[in-house]
Amino acid sequence: MDFDLTPEQQNLKQIAYEFAKREIAPYVNQYDAEERFPMEIVKKAASLGFMGGVIPEKYGGAGLDYLSFTLIIEEIARVCQTMGAILSLPSGLAGSGILTYGTEEQKQKYLVPLARGECFAGTGVTEPHSGTDVAAMETTVVKKGDRYIINGRKAWISMLNEATFFLTFATLDKKLKSKGICAFIVEKHWPGVSVKPEKNKVGFRPLSTGQLILEEVEVPAENLVGKEGEGFKVAMCAVENGRLGVAARAVGLTQACLDESVAYAQQRIVFDQPIGRFQLVQSMITDMVVGVESARYLTYRLAHLKDKGYARVRREASIAKMYATDVAVRAAEYAVQIHGAYGCSSEYNVGRYFRDAKFLQIVEGQNQLHRALIAEYALGYRRD
Ligand SMILES: Cc1cc2nc3c(=O)[nH]c(=O)nc-3n(C[C@H](O)[C@H](O)[C@H](O)COP(=O)(O)OP(=O)(O)OC[C@H]3O[C@@H](n4cnc5c(N)ncnc54)[C@H](O)[C@@H]3O)c2cc1C
Repeated sequence: MDFDLTPEQQNLKQIAYEFAKREIAPYVNQYDAEERFPMEIVKKAASLGFMGGVIPEKYGGAGLDYLSFTLIIEEIARVCQTMGAILSLPSGLAGSGILTYGTEEQKQKYLVPLARGECFAGTGVTEPHSGTDVAAMETTVVKKGDRYIINGRKAWISMLNEATFFLTFATLDKKLKSKGICAFIVEKHWPGVSVKPEKNKVGFRPLSTGQLILEEVEVPAENLVGKEGEGFKVAMCAVENGRLGVAARAVGLTQACLDESVAYAQQRIVFDQPIGRFQLVQSMITDMVVGVESARYLTYRLAHLKDKGYARVRREASIAKMYATDVAVRAAEYAVQIHGAYGCSSEYNVGRYFRDAKFLQIVEGQNQLHRALIAEYALGYRRD
């Protein structure tokens, strides 16, 4: 593995970070407090091609390699987690399933405007009674002539307000478990589709998240993604690509915790000396330094394997996602500790990092699932 960045990658990283400092940093605490989706900033990011990520140019994307995509998301997430999540959706949770399993017509109609930032999309996997256990979903689908009728309710779906369509999932027969699941593109304005946002969230506040309600929704057959019964594979493809984005965002958050803790520890005077002189504070700084560097290497390795063309890197995705997000939670906790009472103040960013970090461990496969998967590979119980 060669992690020397090319001049183009260094340039992209710099452009992304400067954009984040100039266009996002002055406003992020305000729109986070207001739970407001920063549409004007997302549009500026889209105009720079940041929504396009790894989606090929012929489908409206930026056609980036995975490492370049990772660098952009990491730099943006140093300033705002939610913005990092929004920019990674076309390449991850919302777009990658359509790119891999969609028909040419689906790609032209839905993926192209999504990757160009002309519209937004959500992905509806989680339900009120099934999160980790995707195959236990209760949303049903029945085929009637050339249409599918979907009934059910999805929970915790992101981009609820802004999305014009959702990649979502329903089962033909719950007894078939994962083999009964089908994937569909459902447009939000269709009869029977409604949304119910979750208000006053603890983390990821600017991201509109909540219930996607599907009541007798008629979906034309051409909106089936993949074949009947292939929906589980489509969902796993979406989340696996999403995990690289989550790991990159966790690395960005950890770097931000480290940077702000170092700056604070150098200027806060307690017992007549900067708190950075206390070895117990230094110990927290050391853990952040080692944590961010090791998480970054695992994340870049995952991107590197994807760039080499490995179709399935499930184990490596679990390792990078679990490790980077665990490190982020610890770094956010330490950053608040180092800031003392000021960690509780909205004048500093670390309280927001602390609120957001925890949910990185939950989304796109909660970390205890990844912990189990990694052991199962080691024990030979699971192979790709
Ligand atoms: C801000 C935010 C945005 C989200 N966006 C989306 C989205 O866009 N689309 C979408 O579909 N979902 C989304 N989600 C939902 C998210 O993917 C789920 O919350 C996640 O998959 C976990 O499911 P759950 O919450 O139902 O937890 P559960 O499955 O109920 O698990 C609860 C806990 O039980 C334990 N547990 C469960 N299974 C195991 C196991 N096998 N081994 C060990 N322990 C286990 C773990 O401690 C786990 O955290 C979002 C969530 C949040 C918070």
